[in-house]
Amino acid sequence: MNRPTAVITGGAGFLGSHLCDRLLSEGYSVVCVDNLITGRLSNIEHLTDNPDFDFVRHDITRDLHLDQDVDCVLHFASPASPRDYLELPIQTLKVGSLGTHNSLGLAMAKGARFLLASTSETYGDPLVHPQSEEYWGNVNPVGPRGVYDEAKRFAEAMTMAYHRYHGLDTRIVRIFNTYGPRMRGHDGRVVPSFIQQALAGEPLTVFGDGSQTRSFCYVADLVEGIFRLLKSDVTTPVNIGNPREMTVLQFAEKILELTESESVIAYRDLPVDDPKIRQPDITKARRELGWEPSVDLDAGLSETIRYFKGEPTSIPGAHPVGAP
Ligand code: UDP
Repeated sequence: MNRPTAVITGGAGFLGSHLCDRLLSEGYSVVCVDNLITGRLSNIEHLTDNPDFDFVRHDITRDLHLDQDVDCVLHFASPASPRDYLELPIQTLKVGSLGTHNSLGLAMAKGARFLLASTSETYGDPLVHPQSEEYWGNVNPVGPRGVYDEAKRFAEAMTMAYHRYHGLDTRIVRIFNTYGPRMRGHDGRVVPSFIQQALAGEPLTVFGDGSQTRSFCYVADLVEGIFRLLKSDVTTPVNIGNPREMTVLQFAEKILELTESESVIAYRDLPVDDPKIRQPDITKARRELGWEPSVDLDAGLSETIRYFKGEPTSIPGAHPVGAP
C-alpha cells in the first residue's frame, strides 16, 4: 500500500522534527525540507536510515520542485525564537512571505492539503485575555518583533487567500509557547536559557521584573493538537497551547526547584514590545478537535531537563548540551 506523503518545511527544527517523527509513525512518507539556518541535522539523524524519510536541504524562499506525489504540506520553516528573528530579520520576513507563497504553490501543484504554523505572536502584546481566535491582536509592525509577527500575519492572510480564491484545502495553527527536547540550547528562549543557566549554576536572567506571563505547552501535546487539526476539516485558525499561565519569575522558581539549583536570579532589561501577558483560549480546539493538553508542567520540564543534561529521554535523538 502506498503511504501518503507529507512535506514538512523546517523539518529539522524543534517542532518540525517532532512532526517528522509523528507523521512517520502515522504511516506517512516524510520529506523534510530545511536550510539549516536554525534547524539542526542532529534533530533528524535518527531518521536518516528510515526508507520513508527524505531530507532535502533547501531554502523554501526559493521555488521547490518535487517529483513525487504529495498529500500534505506543513509549513514550519521560520526562525522562531526572539533572539533568532532579531538576528535574522530579513530571512524571517522572507520565509513568512516568499516561503509561505512557495509552500502554498507546492500544495496547489500537488493538490495537497496545506497546514501553516502560525503563532500567538499574531496577537502581539494582547489587550484581550486570554486570547481567542476572534481577537485580531495588537502588533507593532515597525518594532523589532514586527519581522516575525507581521510575517506570520501575512502568512495567515496568504493562506486564507489561497483557500478562498483557489479553493486550496488549508489549516492554520496558532502555536503558543512550546518546550521540550530538541530545543536549541542557545536560542535565547526562556525555557532552554533558564534550564541551562540553572544546570551551570549561573544566574537565571529574568527580563524586566518577571511579572510578564506565558503559558507553556509540552511538545508532545502540541504535536497531538497539530495532528488532529491536520486530520480535521477546520479551515480557520486554531490556538494550540497550554492554558496554564504563570509569570516568568514563577517559571524561574520552578526551574530552580526542578533542577535543585543554587543559582540566583539576575534581572535584565525587558526586550522591546515583549508581550506582558499570554494565555491561549483553547475552547475552539477542545470543541472542534477534542484536544487539550495532558502533560503537566513538572513532568514535561523534567523530561526537558534530562535532555539538557544529556541524559536519556523518551524522545529519540536527544543530544547533550552543546551538540551541533
Ligand atoms: N525571558 C526572560 N529571560 C530569558 C529569556 C526570556 O525573562 O533569558 C522572558 C521574555 O522576556 C518573555 C518570556 O521570557 O517575557 C518568554 O520569552 P521567550 O523568548 O521564550 O519567548 P516569547 O514568548 O517572548 O516569544
